[in-house]
Amino acid sequence: MKSGQPLRREIAEVARYLHERGWVANHDGNVTARDGTRTFATPTATSKRLIQERDLIEVDGKGQVVGAGRVFGEIGLHLTVYERRPDIGCVIHAHPPNATAIASARKNPIERPFIAEALVSLGARIPKIPYAQPGDAAKQALAPWCELVDAVLLGNHGVMAWGADPEQALLRLELVEHLAKIAIAGEALGGVEPLPDAAIGPLLAARAKANIGRAADNAEKTAAKLLGGNTAPAPVVACAPAPHANVATISPGGKPHDLASVVREEIIRALRKD
Ligand SMILES: [Zn+2]
Repeated sequence: MKSGQPLRREIAEVARYLHERGWVANHDGNVTARDGTRTFATPTATSKRLIQERDLIEVDGKGQVVGAGRVFGEIGLHLTVYERRPDIGCVIHAHPPNATAIASARKNPIERPFIAEALVSLGARIPKIPYAQPGDAAKQALAPWCELVDAVLLGNHGVMAWGADPEQALLRLELVEHLAKIAIAGEALGGVEPLPDAAIGPLLAARAKANIGRAADNAEKTAAKLLGGNTAPAPVVACAPAPHANVATISPGGKPHDLASVVREEIIRALRKD
């Protein structure tokens, strides 16, 4: 786990990257990361285009600023994730246009995976949390999902994704936006077709085998719930880079994840069994 200065550098890089990709506008979006004892956050009311390491602020476990600076209003959502996920070291919130379009639309075509790699990377659902007013209502709406998934659509708002470190959280956010873009393109062709039910179990098993995601050990239960049409929160998700995604990613720490090749191999192996 990185600490102090390297972590601050990664947060600043991620913040600027969100702006470069057009995933935030104005002062939108926020990034936090923690190293076990300290939590750093992007400052409020600042374009992500301008964020440098020195601009980051430090907050305690209750979101109170340690030292100087002003924290953003959505810090409570980040803390909600951290409180429930000791394995998580970074939370990113942004408004990427395609995913935010789906978050604001009447349907969610990315809720059920339509690409095998995405299911293995993200799990069996990308939920849309109904709009809630900022503050306690928004925190309460998010809380039940924190342990089940690693990325959510926030209704009429945007996306939140979390990961062990800034790189992984960013990859998860990127994958949600990538899937959203594909799904919206698919609308012109009658809509994307979810993966067949029979594929879900083996792919979730592949995901569990690759040890991806907090809920990997719940893969079978998840598959059963999903295939049973249960719309209640299902234990799922977590991620990794999408092996197929030929979208640019940054590697702030210079250490690329090698999960992609693992995932690809596991998918092939799992599918061969059937
Ligand atoms: Zn927002």
